Amino acid sequence: MNAHNINYVNEMQILIENSNRIALISHKDPDGDCLGSLLGLHHILSDRGIKSDVYLDGGIPDNYAFLPGLAKINNKPGKSSHDLVIVLDCSDLDRTGNMKEVFHRGNKSICIDHHESNLNFCDINIVEKDCSSTGEMIYKMSSQWGYDVGKDSAINIYTAILTDTGKFIYDKTTPDTFRCVAELVEKGINFTDIVDHVYGSEDRQAVLAKSKILSEAEFFYNGKLSIGFISQKVLEDYDVEMKNIDGLVESLRDIKNVEISCILKETGENSTKISLRSKGEVNVSKISKLFNGGGHSKAAGFTLKNNIYEAKDLVVEKLKEFLED
Ligand code: 5GP
Ligand code: MN
Repeated sequence: MNAHNINYVNEMQILIENSNRIALISHKDPDGDCLGSLLGLHHILSDRGIKSDVYLDGGIPDNYAFLPGLAKINNKPGKSSHDLVIVLDCSDLDRTGNMKEVFHRGNKSICIDHHESNLNFCDINIVEKDCSSTGEMIYKMSSQWGYDVGKDSAINIYTAILTDTGKFIYDKTTPDTFRCVAELVEKGINFTDIVDHVYGSEDRQAVLAKSKILSEAEFFYNGKLSIGFISQKVLEDYDVEMKNIDGLVESLRDIKNVEISCILKETGENSTKISLRSKGEVNVSKISKLFNGGGHSKAAGFTLKNNIYEAKDLVVEKLKEFLED
């Protein structure tokens, strides 16, 4: 952790210990890092006798149903106000979706994040752009506070790190990441069980839908760009929910010669969610920022108020300057 963040982490401890009501929020359409850091921190605080309310906008994918404490998550912002709102794994306030309400009702805010696109939108912003995951940050911060990480927290934080490092292979996976993971394993967590839940319990219909989507993928710029489409029709045809379709953008990235992969999700008649992955030199966070989104250099996203066909044309056109020979 860099020097000024170490000071902020100390300041955060004072704020946590002097707050009566704490809210923990993260980004809409939750993923493993979002859920694991949120619930991990919730348990760490709870083990110290510090209560926190947890809020998330969007459906939780079925493969995370095993996470300890999942039932504590509120999916509506409610009416309560908090002395302190802690925002995890979010680079901008819009990413919190409906939970903006919780944020605005709060007295003081702290952001804990590792996105290079972070906009420093809280009172205190603890941003570690080179850190593998928000989960790893939570683990290190707890050590600095002298707070214990119990088994339920460890399961959540392990899940956060596992998923955001793509099973410990992405380039922000450092010796420090492995040290954190080693300590989590020493807490007696059953990590093969976690992997079985996260990666080994896919819905059969989701797998069939994914194979259909892959078979209809399109390629541009001599195969350097791959695009897949998750339409409402394919979801209906296969009777599967969008939240349970995962991993396609990585499959499309891993094709030979592909430098950027893209998944377009039809979220409404005039709303398309775009996920980008990069395997080459192109920084997809910078591209996403051009569309008011963000993320990391090799994994980023944004939403367009266009239908899925228009969105495809916009993305293909924008990527021309990065991929055309
Ligand atoms: P995914 O493609 O898995 O939804 O997201 C990849 C990365 O980009 C994640 O780190 C995620 O937080 C970030 N990201 C995805 N969509 C958006 C967006 O609309 N705005 C911002 N700021 N970041 C996004
Ligand atoms: Mn993350």
